[in-house]
Amino acid sequence: MASKDPHRSEDRDGPLADYRRKRDFARTPEPPGTHAPGTSGDTGRFVVQIHDATRTHFDFRLEVDGVLKSWAVPKGPTHDPAEKRLAVPTEDHPLDYRDFEGVIAPGEYGGGTVIVWDQGTYRSMATDRRGNDVPFADALAAGHASFWMDGAKLHGGYALTRTRGGPGRGETWLLVKRKDRHAAKTDAPDPWRARSVLTGRTLRQVAAESDGAAGPDQPD
Ligand code: MN
Repeated sequence: MASKDPHRSEDRDGPLADYRRKRDFARTPEPPGTHAPGTSGDTGRFVVQIHDATRTHFDFRLEVDGVLKSWAVPKGPTHDPAEKRLAVPTEDHPLDYRDFEGVIAPGEYGGGTVIVWDQGTYRSMATDRRGNDVPFADALAAGHASFWMDGAKLHGGYALTRTRGGPGRGETWLLVKRKDRHAAKTDAPDPWRARSVLTGRTLRQVAAESDGAAGPDQPD
């Protein structure tokens, strides 16, 4: 391992290889991203985006080991512990995707509008059966990880649990609010009424403002 050229291995086999393979960075405004393998501390940043792709969905991303571990959550995160939300893993995204808001051109991978619905930090609450702390990345790899979120909109304990499949083989997970003082009957917002935590804009406003921007398809 030590003899590998870190740059080559990063491009071909690194954690962002899938992310880069799916995209043409000459055609998408999304960041190519850099991978800075950080400490695997058990705190990190998170982002929840709303993405008007083929189906409008929420993208739930947690910073783990220098990338954003990502799940598509069709109905979005809720504050209600009685609601179990399907979460389907997607490829790791670069950390700078945390601030990505804009329009991915039709026909490109993930084509559609993205807003940053919530941002903040989380800390691991992952423990083994005896209640001892375990590294967050290990807990995720084992298919169950709890964490505490401090966002502008999301607060308190959540858990991600794998319910089907294994790495790369039709995995499904559930995202569930834990019972704590932040539990409430509050559901995820209507994605079309929700506003960006960064700019206050809705999906439609981001799309409309992008239409006015100069681009290769703009007749002069
Ligand atoms: Mn998405």
